[in-house]
Amino acid sequence: MAKILVIEDETEMAQGLKDNFEFDGHTVLIAGDGEQGLQMAQNTDIHLILLDIMLPKKSGLDVCKELRAMGIKTPVIMLTARGQEIDKVLGLEFGADDYITKPFSVRELLARVKAVLRRYPPVDGTAEKKIRIGKLTVNFQRYQAEDDKGEVELTHKEFDMLKYFYEHKGRVVSREQLLDDVWDYNASPTTRTIDNHILKLRKKIEINPEHPRHLLTVHGIGYKYIE
Ligand code: CA
Repeated sequence: MAKILVIEDETEMAQGLKDNFEFDGHTVLIAGDGEQGLQMAQNTDIHLILLDIMLPKKSGLDVCKELRAMGIKTPVIMLTARGQEIDKVLGLEFGADDYITKPFSVRELLARVKAVLRRYPPVDGTAEKKIRIGKLTVNFQRYQAEDDKGEVELTHKEFDMLKYFYEHKGRVVSREQLLDDVWDYNASPTTRTIDNHILKLRKKIEINPEHPRHLLTVHGIGYKYIE
């Protein structure tokens, strides 16, 4: 079970979420404005953050951006209003993991929370492991990666893909498989999105990205990761 931080100024909404998550066995903390939220989010015990965009004192977007700038990679689900710029929310600038548009059903939100927690299971300190992938050393629990020059920035999506390839080592992975398993219900990515992510990943893991030795193209099908 996870510890969830809800950053939301509408008390009724926050309390409703708290009740629902507690019913599911999670622990819930509530912050009523952006500044308090940012402070509480720095607690390493927190496994997931539900973050409203329209908040007093500091907007949800700024909270998310500042957390990422501090190197805090706790997964974030944004609570957005219709018409807010979703691409930006999920993109590199703000670095949220998912979003849900208000008004939403609690059932839908619970499903998303479940999916995010499945992707980022609450860290068990003893399970921490560093894995060598190409020229990178990766810690999937902490979403950290480094090469011999120091830390390498990967987006959450890039970590997800890398982990997926690692778990399917030596096997051919089709683009459709990646769309289904790594992107699940997010927006509507195309196979082109996959290819772009592969190019970016190669730049980070391959010594010579033009001639990859680890993340190989399997023509007409997809990709394959080999050690
Ligand atoms: Ca609000």
